[in-house]
Amino acid sequence: MNVLRGGRVVDADGTREADVAVEGGEIVAVGDVDADGGEVIDVSGRFVAPGLIDTHVHLMMDGRPDTGTVHGESEATAAYRAAANLRKALRAGVTTLRDLGARDSLALDARRAVAEGVIEGPRVLAVGQNITMTGGHGHPWGREADGPDEVLKAAREQLKRGADAVKCMATGGVLTEGALTGAPELTPDELDALVEAANAKGVPTAAHAHGVVGIKNAVRAGITSVEHGTYMDREAAELMAARGTYWVPTASALRGIADHGTEAGIPAEAVEKTEAAIEHYERAFEHALDAGVRIAMGTDAGTPFNFFDEIPRELELLVEYGLTPKAALEAATVNAASLLGLTDVGRVAEGYRADLVVLEADPSEDAAAWRDPAHVFSDGKRVV
Ligand SMILES: [Zn+2]
Repeated sequence: MNVLRGGRVVDADGTREADVAVEGGEIVAVGDVDADGGEVIDVSGRFVAPGLIDTHVHLMMDGRPDTGTVHGESEATAAYRAAANLRKALRAGVTTLRDLGARDSLALDARRAVAEGVIEGPRVLAVGQNITMTGGHGHPWGREADGPDEVLKAAREQLKRGADAVKCMATGGVLTEGALTGAPELTPDELDALVEAANAKGVPTAAHAHGVVGIKNAVRAGITSVEHGTYMDREAAELMAARGTYWVPTASALRGIADHGTEAGIPAEAVEKTEAAIEHYERAFEHALDAGVRIAMGTDAGTPFNFFDEIPRELELLVEYGLTPKAALEAATVNAASLLGLTDVGRVAEGYRADLVVLEADPSEDAAAWRDPAHVFSDGKRVV
């Protein structure tokens, strides 16, 4: 048994003085703990928080300005890149992440490689390939499908491979050349078919959606989370709040493009689309916060200037857009766990996985506290 002694525990339940005892990858006690001959790690003056959960990443990308250039690369290159990304994320304090679309079985294989201890990384959940209409957003690495029957089959294919969720494109995107950011792509009938396939297996669904028509189509179809949600209006926010649909804002993705621009090598079309979207995005936060939409943290890591070792910056961006540091903490812990359907991560509590970060400041008061953790424990093992 290892004991983190003398620190203050901080999670969605608040901040309190408590030791944390860890054994066999699990938190076995929180409170006054007898070390019992195990290793004692002095964390006095520090804060012990749950490891971060990023519900939206792309392991095959690496934050390069033009993501299109990954497509010509070999599978082995993509796999090495995924391994490097996983290591960076873990060392930054991310102990669970979900890949929302990769070529072929890359992310599903990464899940296995981490679980078997072949490579170092956070616990991985993966959707396999994202489902998109023929020529739709993300088609170069997605599974193209048209009509409810084909979409149903495409979703079932991913589930057969062991997908932890099903991801689709409800609108165009920023990074696919020619795709209109706001325009609906999969139709309501196609979205219904996709949700039906996922519900039969009890796994969540995620819809990439920028434009408001596509957002509403996805919500009405019963999608679990809207990704990006850039043009969300009041009606969409109220609909999401009423139905319990999660919003994963991926602020790092938008800001990675907007804050760097064409001079950094990002394709002009992506920069133009992003600049046109930025004010709507600020309003989306106002609508979501007013309506009480549940927010889960996701970065879209891998997109331009959106690096795996900077994932914790997303919490600072969420605060910039109006969340409190406490709400950002909840988005990246309990809300993210609940969106992913995980019951053993997101809190510092007995019976939870020993995924912990030790910080110098209280992250429920300052979102920048997540930068440069003093220690990171994953499944009870100290990696930093
Ligand atoms: Zn994405």
